[in-house]
Amino acid sequence: MANSITLINPTSIDEAGQPIPLPLGLASLSAYLIERDVKVNICDMNFKNKIEEETDWYGITSTLKSRITIKEMPEFNGRTVFGGPDPSSDPEYYLEFGDYVIRGEGEKPIYELITGTDPSKTSNLSYKTSTGTQHNPKGPLLDLNKLPIPAYELFDVMKYADTYDETKGLRWLPIVLARGCPHNCYFCAHGCVFGIGWRAPTPKKSVDMIEKLLNLGELDGVHIGDSMFGYNIDWSEAICREIIRRKLKFMWFCYKRVDSISTERLALMKKAGCISISFGLESGSQKTLDAVNKRQTVDAGRTAIALTEANGIIPLANFIVGTPGETEAELEKTEEVWNDLLDKHDVIIVPSIYYPLPGSVFYKRHGEQVSEISRERLEEAMRRVKMRMKEKYGTSGSVL
Ligand code: SF4
Repeated sequence: MANSITLINPTSIDEAGQPIPLPLGLASLSAYLIERDVKVNICDMNFKNKIEEETDWYGITSTLKSRITIKEMPEFNGRTVFGGPDPSSDPEYYLEFGDYVIRGEGEKPIYELITGTDPSKTSNLSYKTSTGTQHNPKGPLLDLNKLPIPAYELFDVMKYADTYDETKGLRWLPIVLARGCPHNCYFCAHGCVFGIGWRAPTPKKSVDMIEKLLNLGELDGVHIGDSMFGYNIDWSEAICREIIRRKLKFMWFCYKRVDSISTERLALMKKAGCISISFGLESGSQKTLDAVNKRQTVDAGRTAIALTEANGIIPLANFIVGTPGETEAELEKTEEVWNDLLDKHDVIIVPSIYYPLPGSVFYKRHGEQVSEISRERLEEAMRRVKMRMKEKYGTSGSVL
């Protein structure tokens, strides 16, 4: 039976100037394993390039941004298991580099795997066999109230906060409270990791998690990375009230759907320290919104931006261009909305170009296919809106 594992965050290749996020998945796995007497070492290759202590197992998280650097990792003197968002949606890729891949929630499968459960009986596991690749069925999703609070303290958290400070001018750290998303936008592979649905720790435990992170250093605030903060309105309002009750003073940022806000809710969020909300507007074309299964209207997006700004919270508007089936006419409508929003509001536009994510509905339907609009045209549209923001705010990207 193994009793030690090194959890590794590989180097993340990103556009210059992006902060390095605290690997929250590894923090949660660590707490789960330590609670069960497994010795855990941490190595973040963004800050140190060698693994100092040999262990029985090596657990490596990965995102799209670390796909390339995975290829350059050292040989490990032990068994290797990959997990995280990208391995969950494309396990075959990672089985070229490691012994196992865990798809989806990793706490229980990694514990079972490294403590000797037969791999064929370990849920969520993928591995190679003499006849091909075995993908074991997924196990039940975890009750987040039974998980320990992530072991943030195993990481030198202020190093991560410093990378936010260097790039954004604020000492922030990310945190994830709830897991999952009940929606199914066709370009998104979120469901691969946490399933379609939404689970959350109690509001009290959620604020305990935030407070633990805040107590680890002098932070300006936290970035609540839940894909859908406030899917459950009562839960998110209870969190705001608990922050106010505990008199915690910090700034925070979150993601919400455009149809989940109201003046009263925004006022409560602001009182609790929320300074900015990011919304997925995605497109200025209703045809595209319907085609990506966003289940919202262009007008609802405009209204959310106006209401958020009116309540003293900075709105961010995310857009995705170049999805399968999108045409020049739809792109032009999106550009019109960008210009109109920037004319009328102090909003930050966050555009991105569609990337076919294995695990998404679009990937299943269209594979690597993207829209007929050329890459140059999409990049030109992005350049123009970023230039407009630079003229207006002095910076072309999000300050958060
Ligand atoms: S884009 Fe956001 S709302 Fe849509 S499925 Fe993904 S996480 Fe959920």
